Amino acid sequence: MTDTLIPDKAASTAALERLDLRTQLFIDGRFRDAEGGARFATENPATGRQIAEVARGGAADVNAAVAAARRAADDGRWSRMSPGDRKRILVRWADSIEANARELGIIETIDAGKPITDTVGLDMPEAATCIRWHAEATDKLYGQVAPSPEGTIATITREPVGVVAGVIPWNYPAQMAAWKLGPALATGNTMVIKPASTTSLSLLRIAELGAEAGIPDGVLNVVTGPGDVVGEALGRHPDIDCLAFTGSTEVGRNFLTWSAQSNLKRVLLELGGKSPQVVFGDVTDFEDLAANVALAIFWNMGENCSAGSRLVVHRSVKERVVEAVRAELANWPVGDPLEPATRIGALINRGHMERVLRYVDIGRREGARVVVGGERILEETGGYFVPPTIFDNVRNDMTIAREEIFGPVLSVIEFDTEAEAVALANDTPYGLAASLYTNDLNTAHRVARDIKAGVVGVNAYAEGDMTTPFGGYKLSGFGGHDKSVHAHDQYTETKTVWIQLKPAG
Ligand code: NAP
Ligand code: MG
Repeated sequence: MTDTLIPDKAASTAALERLDLRTQLFIDGRFRDAEGGARFATENPATGRQIAEVARGGAADVNAAVAAARRAADDGRWSRMSPGDRKRILVRWADSIEANARELGIIETIDAGKPITDTVGLDMPEAATCIRWHAEATDKLYGQVAPSPEGTIATITREPVGVVAGVIPWNYPAQMAAWKLGPALATGNTMVIKPASTTSLSLLRIAELGAEAGIPDGVLNVVTGPGDVVGEALGRHPDIDCLAFTGSTEVGRNFLTWSAQSNLKRVLLELGGKSPQVVFGDVTDFEDLAANVALAIFWNMGENCSAGSRLVVHRSVKERVVEAVRAELANWPVGDPLEPATRIGALINRGHMERVLRYVDIGRREGARVVVGGERILEETGGYFVPPTIFDNVRNDMTIAREEIFGPVLSVIEFDTEAEAVALANDTPYGLAASLYTNDLNTAHRVARDIKAGVVGVNAYAEGDMTTPFGGYKLSGFGGHDKSVHAHDQYTETKTVWIQLKPAG
């Protein structure tokens, strides 16, 4: 049974009154307080008001969670369970996330400021889809037999790395967690996972649903708490075999240092981006183009690692494209994230809103022109709302074109030739995603080939689906990919067993 029908505001408000939020650490199959009982507040970014206090995990809690995950890894309760049984449990869990999508989506909306239409309609079903997709692969992963000489047999198999830690961002809290949980658990690992402090609530409930679905104690542990305490303790922990991080490049690079200084744990990093949307002069369907361009930059308030924050557009169509995107904004109402019509909710917190507005000021000072937006709105709600903002006359060396703003701010940059377009697209330290728009098949293939990014969408803002890998070039990533069977490689070790056959007699 699924529950992805978007509730109206009255239904959400009524549901909220009944909600019994999970706010403790989840270790070894049960909820418990942090050692010493410390807690921290989490707020609703659309009202600025506190919703709950969450356990503030510390080093001792990380140790307890890692010890539980280690015991579960070593005794094989999960890794040696028959793959078919592991699959059944994970599929049951995915079904349960989907069946509880409304409750989980409401939790996500009040904790993250994301529109209810996205959390209930997309984040939770997608998280479930991800876990189910990997679950279904569990009993379909074959090993190999090598072409070794006569008298020998050599098998090449994949084994779980052991204990995997996940450190997760706040922009798609459930989905980003699922991108780690799905492949790591399906391949037989145990986990300790840390959600972002601003958005801890949905993952705690999702973990509880996992236990109810039959995930054995100790296999999935959640430690909430500050990044510089819990995140760093995980990064430095000698008994974690692999650490998968999604977040900013700035924080992410520390994990490589901590790995080098501790046990050389495998480190997988999905990081930031400054993705180009390249529009060639031969485009014709401006309405469809504008819908895609707006989705690329304004979806999730622009708090999206693969946001298309640079619109690199041919001079001959620039005015029409900018005008079409501006007109498209009529379809992007900003406001109360619990209202189903809302497409743009609140930014994650005051500090982040101020950071986004600072970038807008810098853009103005450096000579770019605000076409629309650029000021905080709905301040009377107490929430952190910034409307879609478009800057024209941007040069690619301006700060707003170089740094990841992580907000609803689009920079429009002109070009004349294809070579110039490709150079502009690649002139960034990042390389996560890109999109390009043209009616010419040759241009599409050439430019898709030449752009240095992990995912290139042609004539659409697209990141593929569960069947395709997701990860970035350059400062956008390190060590592996989320999604698809490629994600399995990063959570498994390769083992060779070489068997010498004795002659008969
Ligand atoms: P962030 O500040 O880097 O935080 C990510 C996670 O790291 C959070 O759990 C955070 O915990 C933790 N953390 C923070 N400081 C830490 C430290 N000193 N040591 C260890 N862990 C620490 O990123 P964010 O603001 O949540 O997310 C936005 C960023 O994520 C953007 O750059 C975006 O592009 C990127 N992102 C990338 C992808 C991708 O797949 N490539 C997907 C989504 C987002 P606290 O919450 O407690 O600070
Ligand atoms: Mg919150």
